[in-house]
Amino acid sequence: MLGRLPLSFRLSRFSANILRRAMSNESQFSSVADQVKFDILTETHALDNATKRKEIARTFISDTVTVPTEEMYSYATLATLGDDVYFEPSTSALEAHIAKITGKEAGLFMPSGTASNQIALRTHLKQPPYSILCDHRAHIHKYEAGGAAFHSGAAVIPVVPTNRHHLTLQDVKDNVMITTDVHFAPTEIVALENSLNGTIIPQDEVIAISDYVHSLGLKMHLDGARIWHVAAETQTSIKELCDPFDSVSLCFSKGLGAPVGSCLVGTKEFIAKARWFRKLFGGGMRQTGILAACAAYALTNNFPQLPRVHALAKKLEAGLEEIGATILSKAETCMIFYDPSPLGLSYDEIAERASALPEPLFLGGLRLVIHIQTTEQAVEDLLQVIRQLAEEKKAAGFMPQPKVNGSEIKDVYVRRTPKA
Ligand SMILES: *Cc1c(COP(=O)(O)O)cnc(C)c1O
Repeated sequence: MLGRLPLSFRLSRFSANILRRAMSNESQFSSVADQVKFDILTETHALDNATKRKEIARTFISDTVTVPTEEMYSYATLATLGDDVYFEPSTSALEAHIAKITGKEAGLFMPSGTASNQIALRTHLKQPPYSILCDHRAHIHKYEAGGAAFHSGAAVIPVVPTNRHHLTLQDVKDNVMITTDVHFAPTEIVALENSLNGTIIPQDEVIAISDYVHSLGLKMHLDGARIWHVAAETQTSIKELCDPFDSVSLCFSKGLGAPVGSCLVGTKEFIAKARWFRKLFGGGMRQTGILAACAAYALTNNFPQLPRVHALAKKLEAGLEEIGATILSKAETCMIFYDPSPLGLSYDEIAERASALPEPLFLGGLRLVIHIQTTEQAVEDLLQVIRQLAEEKKAAGFMPQPKVNGSEIKDVYVRRTPKA
């Protein structure tokens, strides 16, 4: 039928069809686009953020809550635009800088501290059976979802420090598994953490452990998520703190206040292999320049604030002692563990009263963390809440009891169910 019509007519019918189809495609496409599109900016957005910043200034739960400032974000937008699975200049420069200040050959930007630790362990460990020796409170043992077993097939030897503060050479000697007996998983890595629960392991002890571990041909890994705090508090260079280790993981997203990221450092060969595992684990990221720039901003502008943070932690500790709470773990850096039971108080009572203030405070349990965005006012208000509750107890007949035996710190992450 169509064949008998003039060519021009046939062509115009043809193009009209295409046009009609295109138009209906367009309307179909715009309906798909309507389903896909999404605006996260709400009407109260700016106000919500301002409120959030106020909450963060009054949150003692962790230093992970610290947020990027507008200055950090402005700086970050200037970063380079590479794809980090291939090559990203800002990220690569950050890796080189961290390698330099830690005295290692190479660095690798990581999405999280957990990824950094687990990839480090996986890169060191080759053929089971084997074990990793660490403090029983270590993050790699307690708070990485059993990752050493999952990723590396490794057993963990969690050691309780004899002195209840830090692992010593003797603790390591007493627990390291050096054997050809088939019943045991020989130790291949001794992993230390510094700071650990905010406490500092003396560098002499680190060196003694490292000399011994290396004399056995084993590896030393440092979970240095908060090594920044140790450097600030002891006025020791990052390099000196990292020298005894084959690999070190450092976090930007805790005390330094960057939004995302950690860095793993070690030899060139080690980092090349770790880069491979990072890809395998799904941690190869693309335009990471903005993240690297946030970390760089944090190194320059936030690291210098740590002495102030530590001084504020010590002020909080002194206040708690003065009121009569027991200090379970002293404010060596940015954390305090306390027990209010000598005042007749529970963590829940304190947290509830604190959350009911006109400007609420946010508390976990026994751990109090001070960070670069904590205000002096928040610390004073917290002390005032505890002081007042203690006085109310006394008025109700409670006799404050100085505690003889400080209770053991069981767990850092005390979860309180938030009140609706
Ligand atoms: C937070 C933390 C990690 C893990 O970091 P994420 O980024 O939360 O995965 C590792 N080690 C220590 C000591 C930490 O405090």
